[in-house]
Amino acid sequence: MSLDLEQIKNHYAKMNDAKLENIAKFEMALLEPAVQPIVIAEIKRRGMDENLLAGIAAQTKTLSDEEVEELKDKLKGLACPSCGKPDQGLVGGIIRKVRSIVLFTQYEQRPIIACPACVEAERKSQLIKNSLFGWWGFPSGLLYRTPQAIINHFRDNGKRDAISEGILTHFAVENVGELKTNWNQEDKIVSFVRRKNSTQA
Ligand SMILES: [Zn+2]
Repeated sequence: MSLDLEQIKNHYAKMNDAKLENIAKFEMALLEPAVQPIVIAEIKRRGMDENLLAGIAAQTKTLSDEEVEELKDKLKGLACPSCGKPDQGLVGGIIRKVRSIVLFTQYEQRPIIACPACVEAERKSQLIKNSLFGWWGFPSGLLYRTPQAIINHFRDNGKRDAISEGILTHFAVENVGELKTNWNQEDKIVSFVRRKNSTQA
């Protein structure tokens, strides 16, 4: 089946700026190679932020190890998205959260990127809340979820560096379009990391 490129052109021409920007930053690698130039042309036609093109270029090729390291160094050098302090050397951590609501227990595990002090503070705060609010759910709170979260919390302590590197690598590769687009506007990347910290499930 061949693509109807005219129809695809019209599709992107009708799309609003926000949606087009989102595709440019996060979904370029998913598009057919024949469709990618159409999106690029539409961004240029509208006079949108030219830095989007750098973000697109980074997504549509395979990143070398050096490029991934460069992205991670960018993340590590940002001001902390939680407390705002600069030059703290950001790290990644895992937040483990267990809550029993009425009778049912919910378990959530999500990555966070912040300065070492903020990551530890958030992990400890969840550990305490897990102990207080995670126990009585049925059936898994008492038997399984809460003890598991607490055991894993202490296991994580022993491999902080490996966890941090894994989270930063994953974040860098997944969000290369956003990072490259705002490479020289770090406050925008910090806001983006802050949003991801609070929404990732
Ligand atoms: Zn901080």
